[in-house]
Amino acid sequence: MSSHSAPAVIRAKRDGEELSDAQIDWFIEAYTLREVPDEQASALLMAIFFRGMSPRELATWTRAMVASGERLDLSNVSRPTVDKHSTGGVGDKISLILCPLVAACGAAVPQLSGRGLAHTGGTLDKLEAIPGFRSDLTNDEFRDQLARSGAAISAAGPELAPADGLLYALRDVTGTVESIPLIASSIMSKKIAEGTEALVLDVKVGRGAFMRDLESARELARTMTALGSDHGVSTRALLTRMDAPLGLTAGNALEVRESVEVLAGGGPADVVELTLALAREMLELAGLDADPADALRDGRAMDAWRTMIRDQSGDPDAALPWAPHVEPVRAASAGIVADIDALAVGNAAWRLGAGRSRKGDPVSAAAGVALRARIGDEVAEGDVIAELHADDPALIEIGRAEIDGSFRIGADAPAPSAPIIDRVG
Ligand code: URA
Repeated sequence: MSSHSAPAVIRAKRDGEELSDAQIDWFIEAYTLREVPDEQASALLMAIFFRGMSPRELATWTRAMVASGERLDLSNVSRPTVDKHSTGGVGDKISLILCPLVAACGAAVPQLSGRGLAHTGGTLDKLEAIPGFRSDLTNDEFRDQLARSGAAISAAGPELAPADGLLYALRDVTGTVESIPLIASSIMSKKIAEGTEALVLDVKVGRGAFMRDLESARELARTMTALGSDHGVSTRALLTRMDAPLGLTAGNALEVRESVEVLAGGGPADVVELTLALAREMLELAGLDADPADALRDGRAMDAWRTMIRDQSGDPDAALPWAPHVEPVRAASAGIVADIDALAVGNAAWRLGAGRSRKGDPVSAAAGVALRARIGDEVAEGDVIAELHADDPALIEIGRAEIDGSFRIGADAPAPSAPIIDRVG
């Protein structure tokens, strides 16, 4: 019989006390074994959300999350291993492109990814829009695929950081996502457990990100790079802007389509720029001297994508789902698009069906938002500036209510803003 009780741990954190290592170890283990139910875990998450964690608590919490499962042994992979993780944004499809791109340049990218969280999309939900695609690789399948081709994107199996699998889904539906210690431990426990040697973090900042201001984002980046070093993973972070959506799409199949455009050598300039910047950081950490722009240009990245999709039982040539209901959003006035609010677009995509509001809900592959105008474009009153895609026509007006007012149209062209703000680590 344990001497710990969930109400006592919750009360201690609620009242601002520091949890002991023993309390944290007990809680993570008991929750993973489902001995602590979701309602008590939710209460503790909310208390952590408000009270935060000391560096010692965070180190223990992260170590306990890693220890809730196995740490993958990638010694069968002869290439240097390097992964990337984003803290989550709107239209952030970069992992889909980056994984095959960096593999095409000679590294192995062991991507254990997540599902959508709140208004941000998830790499697995996006890839599962591809008919047949399997994101539930076993550890052996994941390792073999990496050794063969260098690119694999999968859900963390139940053996890897299972505590994060459970907590991540619970945070998504309990309003406890936007917390530096919870985000840092979630991301780093998965990445440490997946066995990568190096890691590049894309820490998003702005109104479409979980970190709204630069100082919080910097603190999150420092927290995660320190956790990485503590566990022998050489970690670096880029702080990148997430005020406007990345690219022109937010939604699962819509984002796969845009990713394939980039792999084919086209696609929106901001997506290409950020992908190449992250790829360069990853290749540098992996000690590889290759220019990722060449691999995009000469088709090697596309070949690696097609191999990865086929290896995971998907059909890279299959038609992607298309929503039966597509309705325009029109410009309320004439002028130049000065701003597009990423949060509003993310919320619209979510409400249209691309995200979930309850743990375990299915998501729509086809739903989402396709922007038809970008910042800096000149529009006339009534021009189509976005399209809302939904399976259920009743969701269109709900999505419209979210996106209404998200385009600011003014008289002057806005000053250009670089997507990369800073680098940490
Ligand atoms: N991505 C994760 O894996 N976890 C978080 O908490 C946020 C983004």
